[in-house]
Amino acid sequence: MTTHGHARRLWALDSPTLTVQSETLLYGTSGEITIPVPSFLIEHPKGLVVFDTGLHPDAIEHPDRVYGSELAADLGIGGSKDSRLDRQIEALGYKLSDVTHVISSHGHFDHTGGLFLFPEAKHYFGEGELRYASWPDPIQSFVYRREMLDTVRTLDVREVPGDLDLFGDGAITILATPGHSPGEVSLVVRLHSRTFILTGDAVHLRAALEQEYHFPIDADTASAVRSLRKLKYLRESLDATIWISHDPDDWAEFAHAPGFYE
Ligand SMILES: [Zn+2]
Repeated sequence: MTTHGHARRLWALDSPTLTVQSETLLYGTSGEITIPVPSFLIEHPKGLVVFDTGLHPDAIEHPDRVYGSELAADLGIGGSKDSRLDRQIEALGYKLSDVTHVISSHGHFDHTGGLFLFPEAKHYFGEGELRYASWPDPIQSFVYRREMLDTVRTLDVREVPGDLDLFGDGAITILATPGHSPGEVSLVVRLHSRTFILTGDAVHLRAALEQEYHFPIDADTASAVRSLRKLKYLRESLDATIWISHDPDDWAEFAHAPGFYE
């Protein structure tokens, strides 16, 4: 077993956006903020990996039908048909069935809406996520949807205790970063040119990472802050770049599909 492997390519898949009140992301801020909801596609010699499947692909055109009019109105979903996850993957020349591994940072609806697109893949969640998803604290109940659990029951799913080196070569590591939800995970992706840490929702905005400020509705705020520190220390020790899924500045700064990192 080598620990010096690399993933070949990383694409950030263009995505629909949400427009929400910024105080829902970071205390002490105000006004509306439009945030990306990306998925990531990673090519490795042993498999094709998706990290987070985003919103339901139909939500761009039919948000009311997918999420109900009340939630849909709060989400302010934006984007074009081309930002559907299935079209994004196909536009890169892959079939959906080419995807071998799907890692969900957690079970919230804006990270798991496309799980059903990958019935043949191996699926990964962090430990404790699915039990919590079926009986969350009231403040998080609106972000876990029954459809997600129904879909998960049809898939080959495993929950990862702690960290997991996905292919045994150090290229792609599932990293336990609980707090936002019990099973929240981040993903370390080592490429030839650089290393990224994809955070899912372990952190939502750059300011929160630097200030070590937890998210207003995290399931466990103390764990969430520990996970923020884990990310920061790992950034230092791996000389890695943290990519915060929902941060608009990160989305603007880094390349997205068809651009890629290798
Ligand atoms: Zn979340």
